[in-house]
Amino acid sequence: VRLALALVGVLLVVAGCSGSASDSVAAPDRGVIGLAMPTKESERWVGDGENMVRQFELLGYRTDLQYADDDVQKQIDQIDAMVERGSKALVIGAINGSALKDVLAKAASADIPVISYDRLIRDTPNIDYYATFDNYRVGVLQGTYLVNALGLKSGRGPFNLELFAGSADDNNATFFFNGAMSVLRPYISSGRLVVRSGQTAFAQVATQRWDAAVAKQRMTRILASSYGATRVNAVLSPYDGISRGILEALKAAGYSGSNLPVITGQDAELDSVKLLASGQQDQTVYKDTRELAKVAVQMTNSLLTGGTPEVNDTRQYNNGVKTVPTFLLQPVNVDKSNYQRILVEGGYYTADQLAA
Ligand code: BGC
Repeated sequence: VRLALALVGVLLVVAGCSGSASDSVAAPDRGVIGLAMPTKESERWVGDGENMVRQFELLGYRTDLQYADDDVQKQIDQIDAMVERGSKALVIGAINGSALKDVLAKAASADIPVISYDRLIRDTPNIDYYATFDNYRVGVLQGTYLVNALGLKSGRGPFNLELFAGSADDNNATFFFNGAMSVLRPYISSGRLVVRSGQTAFAQVATQRWDAAVAKQRMTRILASSYGATRVNAVLSPYDGISRGILEALKAAGYSGSNLPVITGQDAELDSVKLLASGQQDQTVYKDTRELAKVAVQMTNSLLTGGTPEVNDTRQYNNGVKTVPTFLLQPVNVDKSNYQRILVEGGYYTADQLAA
């Protein structure tokens, strides 16, 4: 077998030499993969796109990577164009998980497989697989961090807490919130955590489009109407961008240094990791997007080469029409004590990036 492989290698090199220098041993062209990502505003999606492009190209695919500026119709149009251009498969990080039904019906009639990327696409039978992190667990990590940081288990309290959730049209937002509330709700019920705004329902605390400015406004309103001389001690924030908006509102209201509440986040965005280092944001949830890209690329490649993608969850993610076979990666709790080890030694950021 080794001999045969060596022979093939020699033939490839010889074939390559007969062409121009630049096209020697060209990878096979396996067609174009459409990659529809939500926005470049948040760092993580930029990384997701770049990682997938690199990995698809290594396998001989070309890619059509589009960002939709968090504009739902723009994303629909981009996906429509990917279908028209004959993409071999689509990998979609949806903006509004319920808005893609029609365009995915069109993809299905052209036999184009679809991977739902990070966020579950809802209300359509026309998605094949889902690649994501354990979203409920993300919320559990955030809630647990707050409980431990406040010392609630050793009987401290009561403390004032305010709650923020992500965008209501993103299926993940409910998972994060429910995960966090599974930990926090018992303390709210027993009065050891007090939500002075009274806003504890998902619909009251959701943040349209995960927008930092929207969160900042809401925090400003809450501080003015429910706090006055009283301090807020903790804030559940689902995502680093939102955490930074909340911190701005707090600082504008006079909070600083050790007076700042305990605040969570998600994505280990560079700006927030710097805030961890300087003690302003307390926690984030790290999700290695390089790994997620790998899963999505493997799923797609496997579908296109007649294989069956590997999954590890066939229960949790029902999109309203069907339960979508899913591969879940594990999110990691990051705070001041471990960010160096996890993020710098783990190669996600260089020490220079954090120092800049
Ligand atoms: C992702 C999070 C991200 C959020 C805002 C969610 O769907 O899972 O990682 O923080 O969107 O972009």
